[in-house]
Amino acid sequence: MSAPSFLPVAEPSVGEREVAYVHEAVASGWVSSIGAFVDRFEQDFAAFCGTRHAVAISNGTDSIFLALRAMGIGPGDEVVVPALTFAAVGAVVHHVGATPVLADVHPDHWNLDPVAVERALTPSTKAVIAVHLYGHPADMDPILALCRPRGIAVIEDGAEAHGARYKGRTVGSIGDVGSFSFYGNKVITTGEGGALVSDDAELLARVRHWKDHAMSPERRYYHTEAGYNCRMTNLQAALGVAQLERAPELLAWRARLLGWYRDALADVPGLTLNPHLDWAEPVNWLVCAVLEPALAPTRDRLLAALRTQGIDTRPFFVPMADLPPYAACLAVGADGEGAPVAAWLGAAGFNLPTSERVTEADVRRIADALRREIPAATLA
Ligand SMILES: *Cc1c(COP(=O)(O)O)cnc(C)c1O
Repeated sequence: MSAPSFLPVAEPSVGEREVAYVHEAVASGWVSSIGAFVDRFEQDFAAFCGTRHAVAISNGTDSIFLALRAMGIGPGDEVVVPALTFAAVGAVVHHVGATPVLADVHPDHWNLDPVAVERALTPSTKAVIAVHLYGHPADMDPILALCRPRGIAVIEDGAEAHGARYKGRTVGSIGDVGSFSFYGNKVITTGEGGALVSDDAELLARVRHWKDHAMSPERRYYHTEAGYNCRMTNLQAALGVAQLERAPELLAWRARLLGWYRDALADVPGLTLNPHLDWAEPVNWLVCAVLEPALAPTRDRLLAALRTQGIDTRPFFVPMADLPPYAACLAVGADGEGAPVAAWLGAAGFNLPTSERVTEADVRRIADALRREIPAATLA
């Protein structure tokens, strides 16, 4: 038997439809950010999220940045972000001149713990960024109940959760504005890309203004502010239109794959997979595994052992409090200062191969490797 192939954590699923639409976009000559595919992508993505409007943006970092900008958030303001997330969420708060406050996540679903959020709020809090981590929706209702009466904006970051639902509502449509990334490893990709979705036409009009050099619609080359260029190209949008048409198929293979992992790993002790609360319809961005706290110190050795067997893995995000730009930020947990749940998940979690070409037999091989290596790691 030949050596088993290398199984990557993630790779894009790009088919003939994507190739055809991108070809059409190139052939049309509309290769920059004006073009029929950009308009179509915005309409299709708004419909996908169940919002009235969408604005296509250069990437999922610029999209959160522009949401904060368009909301007028800046120096002197505080923005609550999860203590465990992709770091761009903290970076954009920093870039508008506001202060990130880290709220711990909940052990059951790994997203903002509403108890920690409540403790993190101050009179300076202007927004909460609820990230739907690894495809599982955040617990939005208690967050909205805290924010709405206080006039605090709720920004959803659905970069890892396209199409996931919370109590029947699609993520991105629940707060004031939803932000998305279409980076190559996300559930839906445009290569590089992002979007903001909302029912608030005025907010998105301000975003459109900022994203395109803040040029006056009445007077050409008259710029009302120092604007930005955060546009998506027609080529990227063409890829995105094809991906959205294939979304049911893309979500289905991800769900099927996670099902295989759940079956194959059911008997492996010390390990839990992606959360799935009863109020949630998650999407499987990446297959996640978390070691019980006692095994957390063995994680990196375990991942190295898997790598020698052709199994790619990735550790969970490093908790925000452990990153130099955010180490001085206030971190607030459910019971006091600090973010112990984020610390545990950051140390104990890892992602397993989540690619379309992983077969059920591959998953069984991965499960066998974990079954062998986890006890060995415990004894080492
Ligand atoms: C990927 C990601 C982003 C950033 O998106 P880019 O398109 O890479 O800029 C932001 N937030 C979260 C939660 C992400 O996973």
